[in-house]
Amino acid sequence: MPGLIPINQPLFGSEEQELVRKVLESGLITSAASDGQYVKKFEEGISKFVSSRYATAVSSGTAALHAALVAAEISKGDCVIMPSFTSVAAAEAILLAGARPVLADIDPETYTISRDSIEENLSSRTKAVIVTHLYGLPADVESIKELAQDKGLVLIEDAAHALGAEYKGKRIGSLGDMACFSFYATKNITTGEGGMVTTNIEEYAERLRSFRCHGESKRHESSQLGTNYRMSEIQAAIGVAQLSKLSKFLSRRKRNATILTSELVGASEIQLPVEPEGRSHSWNLYTIRIKTGGRHSTKRDKMVKSLESKGIQAGVYYPLPVHLMPYYREILRIPSGSLPNSELAARTVLSLPVHPRLDDKGMALVVEAVQRSIEKLSR
Ligand SMILES: *Cc1c(COP(=O)(O)O)cnc(C)c1O
Repeated sequence: MPGLIPINQPLFGSEEQELVRKVLESGLITSAASDGQYVKKFEEGISKFVSSRYATAVSSGTAALHAALVAAEISKGDCVIMPSFTSVAAAEAILLAGARPVLADIDPETYTISRDSIEENLSSRTKAVIVTHLYGLPADVESIKELAQDKGLVLIEDAAHALGAEYKGKRIGSLGDMACFSFYATKNITTGEGGMVTTNIEEYAERLRSFRCHGESKRHESSQLGTNYRMSEIQAAIGVAQLSKLSKFLSRRKRNATILTSELVGASEIQLPVEPEGRSHSWNLYTIRIKTGGRHSTKRDKMVKSLESKGIQAGVYYPLPVHLMPYYREILRIPSGSLPNSELAARTVLSLPVHPRLDDKGMALVVEAVQRSIEKLSR
């Protein structure tokens, strides 16, 4: 559809073009033998931004999650607790590491994993917990970290949405044992495809580096199982340029989110996103929930269609919780109805565009379309 405002859209300028041109001219387009400088620069930039001691760039957010689990020595026979209402990437990473995903429910207000549900799902085989800072809102980190420390579990953060989010004044990226970021096209900054694992633990950083490059301890000498999860210099150059604009991107997202909240606060048919005390949202996705009675999913889907007809793309993250996806139904056999908050969220949420390409005029179009669509909803 012409003129459709997309839910998220990368924003590039001459800076990205300039750095990519430099990389191409240099001929150093990858960094297996640490010859290129941009992967290193991008890693240093991210680790400085999130205040972590180490950062390891990889080829995607999914690779970051997989590599983090391997670095934590999660393997066959282990269980890893994660929320069911999140990207399927974490479940894939757990299975690829040879372990079993154990799916917990979420808090209905914040959509992030519930500590009570983690506790209910603990067993003697639980070795790690993956929390997702869903949409860019930090999970209940402090209380979950306390539980993880108490039970001796590794705490991994799926921070794919959360670059720039803060928990009690500290940026997401060094609160748990490892944090995994994604630079896919819809994230707060993008390299096309890409990911990063940040950590303060040297042992993890070393294993991450080795795993991403064939388990090598030195060039052409593999001392453990690894794979190729490297980021190219081309991607890293784009990342370096994007990172220099991140603060601007984040303040634009926040501003756009504030506009939506102030314009929609009176609409009783929808629930607006919350930002509990001490948690600061990175606004990768501004997600509302349809509250009105009747068949929730029908109303939500109607609203998505109505917005689309008005030129606004609404995203649904995610229409199915992991435990209700065909493959995971088959292997995990968690009956529908057993994770009620995840299932309700999957039927009722939708996300609205707040990306940095949208100025006040663009946001006025979004607001207008949402208000019209809500009116139609209650008719
Ligand atoms: C995007 C995303 C991922 C996966 O990242 P990729 O770079 O696409 O592999 C993982 N978790 C969440 C919550 C995501 O949004």
